[in-house]
Amino acid sequence: MLRIGLRAARGFRAESVPVEPARRALLKGACTCAALAFLPRAAAAQAAPAPARPVHADLDAAARQIEAAMIAWRRDIHAHPELGNRERRTAALAAQHLRGLGYEVREGVGRTGIVAVLKGGAGPGPVVALRADMDALPVREEVDLPFASKARAVWGGQEVGVMHACGHDCHVAILMAAAQVLAAHRDRLPGTIKLLFQPAEEGTVGEGVCGARLMVEEGAMRDPKPDMVFGLHVSSALPTGSIGYRPGNAMAGADRFQIKVTGRQTHGAMPWNGVDPIVIGSTIVTTLQTVVSRETDVARSPAVLSVGIFKGGLRNNIIPETAELEGTLRTFGEAQRATAKRRVTEIAQSIATGMNGKAEVTWDENGYPPLHNDAALTARCAPTLARLFGEHARLVDPAMASEDFPYFAKEAPGFFYFVGITPPGTDPAKAAPNHSPRFTVDEAGLMTGLRATLHLVADATGMA
Ligand SMILES: [Zn+2]
Ligand SMILES: [Zn+2]
Repeated sequence: MLRIGLRAARGFRAESVPVEPARRALLKGACTCAALAFLPRAAAAQAAPAPARPVHADLDAAARQIEAAMIAWRRDIHAHPELGNRERRTAALAAQHLRGLGYEVREGVGRTGIVAVLKGGAGPGPVVALRADMDALPVREEVDLPFASKARAVWGGQEVGVMHACGHDCHVAILMAAAQVLAAHRDRLPGTIKLLFQPAEEGTVGEGVCGARLMVEEGAMRDPKPDMVFGLHVSSALPTGSIGYRPGNAMAGADRFQIKVTGRQTHGAMPWNGVDPIVIGSTIVTTLQTVVSRETDVARSPAVLSVGIFKGGLRNNIIPETAELEGTLRTFGEAQRATAKRRVTEIAQSIATGMNGKAEVTWDENGYPPLHNDAALTARCAPTLARLFGEHARLVDPAMASEDFPYFAKEAPGFFYFVGITPPGTDPAKAAPNHSPRFTVDEAGLMTGLRATLHLVADATGMA
């Protein structure tokens, strides 16, 4: 079955470029899913394959028929990337497509998001939500493709290149294709399909609450309330034709913090006349390392705390008035997350006070919770993926990267999985990772994502 998908897509696989050593784009802001490329080594999944029904072959045939259109949509969206909260063209494309298919479409949910509902024609059944994120990144594309992005935009006060360097163009195209196939099989579909096209997964600069959280706050998971929600992400860390997933904790929560240290300015030759915020800040950075190394049970649940920005001073011999730190906290449980956040604040404030200064600690309101795949739902999905992909449906280790999908998964049991897009013959460990200006998609992987989506819906709803 898989070979069919790969063969059908071969004509579209124009994206092979020489792959250079992996490197991460250095980006401001929340771009938390960058480290998808660091998905660890994978092991074969254990699940026994679910039995095949005639509907599965019908869905596969429909998937093959729509593959060329899906890839054309992806290329169009790739050539016209839009930053978070500005996905107007992408959203309009999806909305028009969905209306034409008979979906009930609500636009402008969470700024540019779309919620679309299709009632099946085969009686009662579950409400199944499917999510795709739509935003691109402030990255200037370095891949030589006929549909490479030339887009530019202002981001964080700077003019930047814009690129779908995280593959959200693929997510939109896959979900548009799935929407069409499901609409064509509506008479055989019990229950209801709810599509969530989401803006601003990568976060924004200074635009407040956004993305999945804002969509949920604006009612995306109500009326009807989904019984389950599925999401996928293309990943350079997996070969084309494979799926990676894990039950339970799959991706870390991400919280961004800022610490403003205030001392008292003085001459560098006479530090006793002032209060040195550089020394206070340095002590804070060093001591914050103990939140993970001395206070967290890392045998039970890993965590990471990194300070990535330390700014202060203009001259070698002037002790400045202030210093500013910024960092990221990654955790795998809500209790661990709350405790670690509290300890960062307490340590920074008490060190600063103890050294005659002051520290103000601010936590970004757009922090992402840990991504927890519902155990029972994952157990239901695993046999479907085993039937589709055999040993290429793999269990993967938890990733320290983050996603805002958990905001949807807080409202209904969620299952989030990774779709391989690195072509055969290329070592995924050496492929340009998500967020790189040379991030490259083997478009045969879109079929993997489409078939996974369709079969998960068929098995969750009992399509016959
Ligand atoms: Zn990303
Ligand atoms: Zn992403």
